[in-house]
Amino acid sequence: MALIVQKYGGTSVGNLNRVRAVAERVAAAWRQGNRVIVVVSAMAGETNRLLKLAHDLSPHPSPREVDVIAAAGEQVSVGLVAIALKDLGIPARSLLGFQVPVETDGVFQKARIKRIDASKLLGIVEGGEVAVVAGFQGVDRWGNLTTLGRGGSDTSAVAIAAAVKADVCEIYTDVDGIYTTDPRICPAARKLERISFDEMLELASLGAKVLQIRSVEFAKRYGVPLCVRSSFNDEPGTWVVAEEPSMEDVLVSGVAAEQNEAKITLHRVPDRPGLAARIFGPIAREHIVVDMIIQNASEDGFTDVTFTVPRADHARALAIVSDVARDIGATGVSSDTNIAKISVVGLGMRSHAGVAARMFEVLAREGINIQMISTSEIKISIVIDAKYTELAVRVLHAALVEQGFGEETPS
Ligand code: ASP
Ligand code: MG
Repeated sequence: MALIVQKYGGTSVGNLNRVRAVAERVAAAWRQGNRVIVVVSAMAGETNRLLKLAHDLSPHPSPREVDVIAAAGEQVSVGLVAIALKDLGIPARSLLGFQVPVETDGVFQKARIKRIDASKLLGIVEGGEVAVVAGFQGVDRWGNLTTLGRGGSDTSAVAIAAAVKADVCEIYTDVDGIYTTDPRICPAARKLERISFDEMLELASLGAKVLQIRSVEFAKRYGVPLCVRSSFNDEPGTWVVAEEPSMEDVLVSGVAAEQNEAKITLHRVPDRPGLAARIFGPIAREHIVVDMIIQNASEDGFTDVTFTVPRADHARALAIVSDVARDIGATGVSSDTNIAKISVVGLGMRSHAGVAARMFEVLAREGINIQMISTSEIKISIVIDAKYTELAVRVLHAALVEQGFGEETPS
């Protein structure tokens, strides 16, 4: 007998037949003698519809009231799932965030969970009932309803699993699990049986379509094993778990592409102490997150500095550094929004040399120019022209994931 948290996303409860199918799955786990807590999202499209109502009514709706409205989607789905369970003869009870309670800070629309009281939930499941909890919503210490940001019900589920010390948190969605790369770009992509929390965090852009990345940080911090699987079939899914030694045997677990960054270069910056601080200080003060930074070797006292920022912040960052460039005597600023960042991630990189060299070779063979490189212990990221995104993903996946490193015959 285990204590299981099952989370169902919007498409999994997208219509009444889907709600019945979810109830059947919950019932099966319950009948096997498990204690089950279900966390549910709003029906597919519902949160968008509710947010649109608020924004159609007013150009700047009060964030507090937007959360009251947005939280309504989950209120409907927990009621529906609880009714469907009772129709199957399973004792069940719906709970909204404030009834648990899921206590958050007071930042509307992107609240963070501070504390979850496990006692009521545990009382319900120990009494033999299924608890059906509304994801995405919480309550701040003044009693205001809050929501956790789009996709936040994953984080609700993991946080609840951590609070009740569940044996597993199953995330049910409309895909079969986490893939080695985007199957729409690369047909050879395959589903991973398991992946470590750290790899999953580094592959954010692959995983983010499946899991809110904050939920993975939570799962890592509290050691909650996650299983991402489909509610539309009985395939086993992908386990996202704490690292095990054998995981280092796999060199590259995944290849991810992101096209939401832009690149900015300051030309001929005088190479003096304090200049990086002059450039990046004002950007940080505007809360713009800088990802990669390159500073070239200095030539006759001048250097070029290139960095990337989220594409949405490109215009603001460009305006800021244009001012700075003038102040510090750089000769100019240029920028490019047509870039892609390709990352290869794998725990095995920690103990094997040569992945980077192999990666560069493969790209060179295709004539793809590398504009920037950055590395961490388990990741290598490069920036290239966006028009080569799909080609780069396919050839890197073929060379590093499909073939496995070192198995290729020398070219
Ligand atoms: N219903 C919310 C949203 O659409 C939360 C979630 O689905 O995770 O963002
Ligand atoms: Mg979701």
